[in-house]
Amino acid sequence: MAFDPRTILTINVALALAAALYLLLEWRSARERALVYWSAGFLLVVIGSSLSLLRSYGFYFIGVWFANGLLVLAHACFMLGVARFVNHAPSRLWWLLVPAWCALLPLADWTLSSRLYMAVNSLFVGALAIHAGQLLKLEPGAASLGTRQLHYVLLAHGLFYLVKAAYALAPGTLLDLSLYQGLMIRVSLIEGVMAILLIALSMTGTVRYRRERQITRLAERDPLTSLYNRRGFQARAPFLLADAHPSRPGALLLIDIDNFKLMNDMHGHAAGDHMLVSLSDLARQLLPGDALKARLGGDEFALLLKDTSASAIQELSDELRRAFNALAAEAYATPKPVTLSLGATLIDTPTQDLSSLLGQGDQALYEAKRDGRDQLKILSHA
Ligand code: GH3
Ligand code: MG
Repeated sequence: MAFDPRTILTINVALALAAALYLLLEWRSARERALVYWSAGFLLVVIGSSLSLLRSYGFYFIGVWFANGLLVLAHACFMLGVARFVNHAPSRLWWLLVPAWCALLPLADWTLSSRLYMAVNSLFVGALAIHAGQLLKLEPGAASLGTRQLHYVLLAHGLFYLVKAAYALAPGTLLDLSLYQGLMIRVSLIEGVMAILLIALSMTGTVRYRRERQITRLAERDPLTSLYNRRGFQARAPFLLADAHPSRPGALLLIDIDNFKLMNDMHGHAAGDHMLVSLSDLARQLLPGDALKARLGGDEFALLLKDTSASAIQELSDELRRAFNALAAEAYATPKPVTLSLGATLIDTPTQDLSSLLGQGDQALYEAKRDGRDQLKILSHA
């Protein structure tokens, strides 16, 4: 089948329209504003590519100058969408593109100057795409698959347009914008089909990955203390438990605040909440970064440590108790002291049986309560 630029251009129009609608539908469920900018960008591609078909009928001004200009505007929309996505205000200098692009108008005689026109137009598109790709690095979760994918797709697309700009200026290359002649114009049409597909899919992927991360975070975190909740704890514990060894045992530490109800009753729920947050802050300060910290519910917390020992656990508990007891006594006086009871169990072989470990921790915690509270009891894991 003969290679027909008009057919490819028509496919471009259809794909860009599908992409615009797809992103708009995605926005209806995700409500991420970036999707609206991106959808608008693809709509501009639809209009630009449709108008571009007119150049075959001699409408060069609309079919070449205006149509390619819309491509620059479309990439400006892509860039604005990315800026919105990463919460970054783009530099106002980008607005200078508008007068710069309008200044190209007198050059549009499609003969001698069309090369310069195409070079500058491509340079604008390339710069906008590369800048959009670079902006994605500002996303805190830039390591997420979707964001990385869009980053590379935009960079590759932008680089292609820089090459296209250089090609337009290279002497001896065949280039005829009015008749779609020249290797670069044909390659560019194919690149357009691939870019539309890859960019649109990466854009929805980026939003979806981020949303999934947020949903997972919400499902696994305790909203008051931001520590893991029971679900998050259960999901992450197996990684630490598998690492246990007699020479570097792990430990599960359960904590329950003593006389917490009394503090709630005397000083109000907000005071209780404040002490729950203080305890989680202390856990973050005093425990190693790789320890798993969770609020299992109410005033009960669980800590899972690796590569530790009975004496290290004793030391850590003493520090936690000392700091917490002082904070509670200073802020909210109660007839019976608000302190910490802790139950620990050492894990010296790899295991996946979290529930029996929790049972042992509970037993140790119960003994700490029974023996007068404000202390640590350690059970050894058989
Ligand atoms: P014990 O010394 O035996 O541990 O008794 P306690 O008074 O600490 O009470 P217990 O551990 O049996 O019960 C926990 C209490 O924690 C019950 C409830 O009033 C309170 N509580 C549970 N969730 C929250 C919360 O999110 N905020 C506040 N302020 N209090 C809570
Ligand atoms: Mg309690």
